Amino acid sequence: MAQLRAGIVGAGIAGASCAGTLAAAGWDVEVFEQAPTAGGRIFTQQLNTGWAMMGSPFISAKREPFRSQLRDWVRQGWLVPLRGNVWLGRAADAWAHTQLKNHYTLQIEPAQLMQHLLGTARLHTQTRVATLQPRTIILENGQTMGNYDCVICSVPAPQAIPMLDALPRLRERLVDVRYRPVWSFLMRWEGGPAVDVIQFDDHLLKLAVRQTAGGEGLWMVHSSNEFAETYLEASAMEACTRGASALMGLLGLPWPVEVEASHLWRHAQPEGSIGGFWLGDRENRVALIGDGIAGTGVERAWESGVRLAQSLVQAKAELTNCPVDLDVDQFVS
Ligand SMILES: Cc1cc2nc3c(=O)[nH]c(=O)nc-3n(C[C@H](O)[C@H](O)[C@H](O)COP(=O)(O)OP(=O)(O)OC[C@H]3O[C@@H](n4cnc5c(N)ncnc54)[C@H](O)[C@@H]3O)c2cc1C
Repeated sequence: MAQLRAGIVGAGIAGASCAGTLAAAGWDVEVFEQAPTAGGRIFTQQLNTGWAMMGSPFISAKREPFRSQLRDWVRQGWLVPLRGNVWLGRAADAWAHTQLKNHYTLQIEPAQLMQHLLGTARLHTQTRVATLQPRTIILENGQTMGNYDCVICSVPAPQAIPMLDALPRLRERLVDVRYRPVWSFLMRWEGGPAVDVIQFDDHLLKLAVRQTAGGEGLWMVHSSNEFAETYLEASAMEACTRGASALMGLLGLPWPVEVEASHLWRHAQPEGSIGGFWLGDRENRVALIGDGIAGTGVERAWESGVRLAQSLVQAKAELTNCPVDLDVDQFVS
């Protein structure tokens, strides 16, 4: 029987985990990623002094099988549990101390972790997908990649919708999935609290996480969703100035707080999700995965990719001489 083929759009945790699981089961898998490296919202910024997280700062597991997966990554030295002190609070004089439980942070760069996940799947970076059609991926450069047994789209819902004109049943299911934005900053300051994580109870800033791989005094600071919605169309310079000023107020810091980098995540986290792990159009051999389908967070995105791949592999096992069929309960009708 001919080797089964999958084409996957997006090399975030969902796309990479799906690709690697299929490839390990003998599928021929190609992944198309628009960015220069894999990782998606698990993203690091390169600096002269090292690197720093700019997207999801933590990975945590609420249940199996992701718990076992994280234990394995810890054994490999790719992840470490974050046991540092955390400050929770509203103002410099009213903080509560706590400890984070079940939170892990990366010791290697996301692209390396994704490479491990991808296994033998072939990754094409800086390759943007324009449109999906039945069994077919059309790249932005006009190239048609076709005749897949399954096309899998693992990008945030607002980025998937424009690709799905030829697949209206899938597109219609995505229109109500809303994502909220976050501005992410790398800020360096001297002094301040001797903790590793600060969770702000504030309407402007949400979180600051110390970045040890980026040199002394470097922190990743995330805005609140409300801040990012207010400064959605602002220049990076304006957002940085507002963010630094909010931080100085909250921590009672004097100048200078240097902002070394910033990034606006327009689609940081979904507010709701479709539910289930994946959504498939059986007739057209196209399936959707990722946190817009399965729910926010790294764990749900990973599960979404693995569960779709397992369903596809299982379907092949049951239908030995037939083309693979997507036949779990997440079909559009
Ligand atoms: C600021 C921030 C903080 C977060 N904090 C946490 C946290 O503490 N804990 C937690 O569990 N989760 C957190 N998350 C959420 C978590 O990062 C996501 O839920 C998860 O990484 C989503 O993975 P994904 O594979 O579904 O999507 P993504 O990681 O977004 O992957 C999609 C990929 O598709 C690519 N792509 C998009 N369009 C195209 C196209 N047309 N052609 C080719 N490629 C394309 C993108 O470049 C991207 O690499 C946070 C996210 C952000 C942004």
